[in-house]
Amino acid sequence: MPPLTDTLCLQCGLCCNGVLFADVRPEPGERSPLFAGRARVAQPCPAFQTGDCTCTIYAERPQRCRQFECRQLLGVAAGEIMVPQALRRIRQARKLAAKLESGLADLGFDNRKQPLKRRFEKCQRAAEQGGLAEAQYAALAELQLTMHQLTLLLAKEFYG
Ligand code: SF4
Ligand code: SF4
Repeated sequence: MPPLTDTLCLQCGLCCNGVLFADVRPEPGERSPLFAGRARVAQPCPAFQTGDCTCTIYAERPQRCRQFECRQLLGVAAGEIMVPQALRRIRQARKLAAKLESGLADLGFDNRKQPLKRRFEKCQRAAEQGGLAEAQYAALAELQLTMHQLTLLLAKEFYG
């Protein structure tokens, strides 16, 4: 049987693509080439391959990446969650994140090098400062609802 990381993580990538986390930070004595002297690396992680959800430096990934296991991964490993159920939750979270990505891009916040939540906050701030066109406020209201749904789902089903 393939390892669970193959079954789940290769369909997911939420802990690397800027949805669950805003950055990766080194542990003391960290040797991963990801950092190359940097105190942190912003997500989406530059080592993350969106197409197949793989890590280009997997064998040398940072300690924190090795240590993090989301609730779905832990739940399936413990026999408390069935694989199809975990995959459904992953698909659901990815769908909400994709909806947000696309909605934010439509509103002009399309810097995909920034973590999703940061882009969303920038959009909110712009709206508070009157920086959106009148017609865009309805789209933002829809995005706020989507962000709320995603935040609840991540808190309940993914953070360790
Ligand atoms: S969030 Fe969980 S299932 Fe998704 S890639 Fe990370 S550890 Fe794997
Ligand atoms: S180094 Fe690899 S495992 Fe760690 S966040 Fe980046 S892509 Fe993910």
